[in-house]
Amino acid sequence: MKVTEHFKAAKGKTLVSFEILPPLKGGSMKTIFDTLDPLMEFKPPFIDVTYHREEYIYKKRPSGYYEKTAIRKRPGTVGICTSIMHRYNVDAVPHLICGGFTKEETENALIDLNFLGINNVLALRGDARKFEGKFIPEPGGHAFALDLVQQLKEMNEGKYLDNNIVNGNKTDFCIGVAGYPEKHFEAPNHRSDLHFLKKKIEAGAEYIVTQMFFENKHYFKFVDDCRAAGIDVPIVPGLKPITKLYQLNSIPRLFHVNMPNDLVDAILDAKDAAGRTEAGIEWLIAQSKELKEKGVPCLHYYTMSDAEVIKKVASAVL
Ligand code: FAD
Repeated sequence: MKVTEHFKAAKGKTLVSFEILPPLKGGSMKTIFDTLDPLMEFKPPFIDVTYHREEYIYKKRPSGYYEKTAIRKRPGTVGICTSIMHRYNVDAVPHLICGGFTKEETENALIDLNFLGINNVLALRGDARKFEGKFIPEPGGHAFALDLVQQLKEMNEGKYLDNNIVNGNKTDFCIGVAGYPEKHFEAPNHRSDLHFLKKKIEAGAEYIVTQMFFENKHYFKFVDDCRAAGIDVPIVPGLKPITKLYQLNSIPRLFHVNMPNDLVDAILDAKDAAGRTEAGIEWLIAQSKELKEKGVPCLHYYTMSDAEVIKKVASAVL
């Protein structure tokens, strides 16, 4: 089923879904199943699997020179999606990014997804590579998520890159896109960010998943601003637990989001690691309960390696 069909079928009830990362190269599906098995009791209608492009690393050679090597640390998104669908009979949503893909490679990836029976995609631009100051599209690839949404939409209409293909098979992808309650860090202001978000919806995206946020007021304002701008698709809040000291610095640096004083104080004041975990769980339970009360379509948890934490949160909320 499509993600949007799940929302419709829920008839206003708040669903719960999860996002997982492929394991580091050399890992196995067991890591994924160990994460998801305990969470399946919450009956997620869909599970997102992130996509990670290759990175450049610099290896020091005996001569003292550095060798630039491209490696992909977390391959396997599509394989994981099919395994998840097979094992749990839930829908899997692969993330697809512009970075590192030519349009032809994107088309071929979408054909694979279609043949595998995967008809949900979260369409993203991707970030700049480490050591590159800004996002650089692949030559012959897309510069913005909007362009990827347009390609998906065209395939849904049976249009392929090769104009000679007539009566091409129409795919039936349900397209999700990302939204940023605290603004995407590259956008000059909220209005500009909303302007381009609206273009993604007009191009065919059917729902939005938000970047994580730690104060619900950001989400509520974002939804209000979207509605005022004429964006009327479901907006799914993305939620992440903060349970470790280092996250107080790494999360704002990596995701360009703010943390409220009360959350930071709760983590800093906790006596030990267990206390920090408890504080993070309490915070996320409170956030989730309020969102559920306000009738959000779905609570979408970024699980990373926090399955136990997410289980405690979901148990308290659902
Ligand atoms: P876009 O929608 O293209 O926006 C990027 C920036 O450009 C914004 O500032 C926007 O305002 C601006 N903009 C958009 N269109 C135009 C235009 N036509 N002209 C000028 N400016 C424009 N990254 C991964 O690599 N893999 C993942 O699996 C992944 N999953 C994610 C899941 C979620 C829910 C979220 C919120 C993010 C995820 N990301 C992932 C990170 C994402 O790729 C980055 O945040 C990236 O920097 C922006 O992606 P986007 O799709 O929002 O880009």
